[in-house]
Amino acid sequence: MITYQIVFEGTIISSATFDKADFTPEVLTCVDQSGTIDRVISATDSDYQSVKQAAIDNHVLQKIPEGSFLLPGFTDLHIHAPQWSQAGLALDKPLNEWLNTYTFPLEAKFKDLSFAKKVYQSLVKELLAHGTTTGLYFGSIHNDANLELAKVCAQLGQRAFIGKVAMDNPEQTPDYYRDDSSQVSLKETEKFIKALQELQNHTQAELTPVITPRFVPSCTDETLYGLGKLAQKYNLPIQSHCSESIWEDRYAQERFKKSDTQVLDQFGLLTDKAVMAHGTQLTDADFKLFRERKASLAHCPISNVYFGNSVMRVQDAHQKNINIGLGTDISGGFSPSIYRNMQQAVMSSQILKDNGNDNARITCANAFYLATIGGAKALHLNSGQIKPGFKADLQIVQDQYFDVFSNNASDIFERLVYHTNKENIKQVYVSGKLVHNSVGEDNGK
Ligand SMILES: [Zn+2]
Repeated sequence: MITYQIVFEGTIISSATFDKADFTPEVLTCVDQSGTIDRVISATDSDYQSVKQAAIDNHVLQKIPEGSFLLPGFTDLHIHAPQWSQAGLALDKPLNEWLNTYTFPLEAKFKDLSFAKKVYQSLVKELLAHGTTTGLYFGSIHNDANLELAKVCAQLGQRAFIGKVAMDNPEQTPDYYRDDSSQVSLKETEKFIKALQELQNHTQAELTPVITPRFVPSCTDETLYGLGKLAQKYNLPIQSHCSESIWEDRYAQERFKKSDTQVLDQFGLLTDKAVMAHGTQLTDADFKLFRERKASLAHCPISNVYFGNSVMRVQDAHQKNINIGLGTDISGGFSPSIYRNMQQAVMSSQILKDNGNDNARITCANAFYLATIGGAKALHLNSGQIKPGFKADLQIVQDQYFDVFSNNASDIFERLVYHTNKENIKQVYVSGKLVHNSVGEDNGK
């Protein structure tokens, strides 16, 4: 018999399909030494008792208390790490003012490493405490600070995809916060790729560099072209923004006579490893190109209310076979919680429906799929599901109203989506390793 690293005993909730979350009572979820889920054993399986006994003997049985549930960890597909220290601030300002008065000056401060370290420690801890086991990050233009973010993720145990932000277009970026030239942008990006890969080898942490043009307007043609080449050379993921707002769409049309999606594609930046944030203005033709390139979308519903002034057509995109995950868009979105974004995704879809698109509404099960399977798929990870062969990225979540309200499976599931706060997330695991633990902090409740 395999000696497991940890065996969880209790009820699991995991997305099965876009429309359905499975609720499986009282199983053993067995995690092997590599941090992968080896088996999920139900009480009726013949070796349930013997596996449980072996886990007890080896002191690796973890009983999930009644009223708590084992869920997959979340993937956050869109985080601007340096913006964490202004999360929730100035969101009532117009985008231009938000960027130029608040965001660019703040990001420029990340050349100060001790400031970067303090902010990144706080951010990664907070994301883990909210059940986010994988993060796709925009750093700043500064490689030292970006490497600091990687070190913090390695130290705290979060799986991270991190990009050095490339931005060199003098017409759309301030002189105090931009890459000096296209050559600098590309050289620094390549330096970051190599440094992160070295750190990854050295620490064995799950770290991946990401090609990161801030968005089309921030970059010159030479930089967009060079970044596409680097993505190909190193076979790397790509992240950027795409058709976030009407302004961004018009900009692409004026500069290139093409849609934002077509521009990204023209420069080799729309691949099956690309994750593009927002997409609130995507047309059916853009959707078709996303589908053909197998690129993914990061839906950031809170941020879209502030700066997209629109709602992404999640149902339409899904029905057109485009993969979609969720992003907090710290700090265009104020909340580090994917739960909060699941709620907003459901709420915002209602507005599309009320505007005459009858099929626009999404359900809690749909939002949960985006947060788990959709996010993992975007990054080609075997994660986001509690099934054999998947990484043991897990969270133990307490249903705070378990003793008060009805307890059928679908009620518990919807309640968890709508009511889970940081305090209810008791433990979080990444690849079987405990990375957040609040058990005991409230007298074991
Ligand atoms: Zn963004």
